[in-house]
Amino acid sequence: MRVDVAIVGGGVMGAATAYWLTRLAPRTSVALIEADPTHARAATALSVASIRQQFTTAINVRISRFGIDFIRNFEVETGLAGGLGLREQGYLFLARRPEAAAFMADVAQMQRAEGAATVVLGPAEIARRWPWMRCDDLSAASFGPRDEGWFDNMGLLRGFAEAAVRAGTTRIAGRVVRIAASGGTIGALALADGTEISAGAVVLAAGTRTPAMLGALGVAIPVEPRKRTVFVVDAPAARHKEAPLIIDPSGIYLRPEGEMWITAIVPDDDKACDIDDFEPELHLFEDEIWPRLWARAEGFAATRVKRVWVGQYDYNSFDQNAIIGAVPGFRDLYLLNGFSGHGLQQSPAMGRGMAELILTGGWQSLDLSELSPLRLTEGRRVLERAVV
Ligand SMILES: Cc1cc2nc3c(=O)[nH]c(=O)nc-3n(C[C@H](O)[C@H](O)[C@H](O)COP(=O)(O)OP(=O)(O)OC[C@H]3O[C@@H](n4cnc5c(N)ncnc54)[C@H](O)[C@@H]3O)c2cc1C
Repeated sequence: MRVDVAIVGGGVMGAATAYWLTRLAPRTSVALIEADPTHARAATALSVASIRQQFTTAINVRISRFGIDFIRNFEVETGLAGGLGLREQGYLFLARRPEAAAFMADVAQMQRAEGAATVVLGPAEIARRWPWMRCDDLSAASFGPRDEGWFDNMGLLRGFAEAAVRAGTTRIAGRVVRIAASGGTIGALALADGTEISAGAVVLAAGTRTPAMLGALGVAIPVEPRKRTVFVVDAPAARHKEAPLIIDPSGIYLRPEGEMWITAIVPDDDKACDIDDFEPELHLFEDEIWPRLWARAEGFAATRVKRVWVGQYDYNSFDQNAIIGAVPGFRDLYLLNGFSGHGLQQSPAMGRGMAELILTGGWQSLDLSELSPLRLTEGRRVLERAVV
């Protein structure tokens, strides 16, 4: 089989790229290759599915400006009935130390200049808006009153994939086991069942499995799998289903999930995990999360865990930001990786950027050159400080 573009990985990044390729250039032949069509271990399926404008780098705000418009206009963009159930309840970043409050004020100014609606609130205003929260340790909070919230992650994936297939993309269920390359050109992809696919361009969008594929081609990237255990909990005395997604300075985050809450923490000893390790770290709830929930609101004194799952971030240990672009040293190999926990919301802009780059040889709608793989060898960090 020969196609114009072969995409390895049918998670949200691969599907978004196929969608934009066939939308922008309908004659392009595209193969979207996915090893596990159940998506059981894909970050896309295991995501907390939220979008924010409150990033510390302007490029990430621009990416999310486009993301929220796409999510809001999903039916028009994809031609599929039914939206993504966006709950626009905002993100609330809480700060204890006065220096953190000053940093928030600076960053909010940059975000507003990019079109976000971030406001910085003092302790009295926080207590007035969310009277159920303990605020005595807080010096400030930054809040996004619009364009932030959560939505249907699998709906977004399905939308990209179905629209791409309708526009001619071939979906292939199979695992890429070998990428043959010589002289800076990819020859063919071999699937586990023996199928060979050759392509004018190859996009690696295989999530946590991407670094090993590149490694086999002699290219190293600073991306590793990092485990995140997510808890769904019920606290009958703290049911606040209109609450925002709260980033607590103690290291936890929480957001409503219907009448319940989703919550998680970055473990103190956060490090690379085994790529097949999906074992929940159950102790994190009792040892770390629960005391912090209770410290923030009395109502969490009685909290019951209802469900737990584990997902893995494709964590960029260099600067916690996306790596998107042509792989140096190759004429026809492209990379989408390193999303460090904020890729779902970035997928509309990333897919469009990748498609434009392949089709035209340059960035068009949004200049994503800051995030290109070149920065890794040049030692140029685009550090994202608000990684959740
Ligand atoms: C717990 C958790 C919470 C998160 N919360 C958020 C959030 O609130 N907001 C947000 O924006 N982002 C969030 N993220 C991040 C976001 O989910 C990811 O950045 C995004 O889904 C990455 O998409 P992807 O397509 O690159 O990877 P994936 O979804 O992992 O897809 C990669 C696909 O490649 C396939 N694949 C791998 N190897 C091969 C091969 N050899 N051949 C063929 N196919 C292959 C895999 O089967 C997989 O389906 C979260 C992630 C986690 C884990």
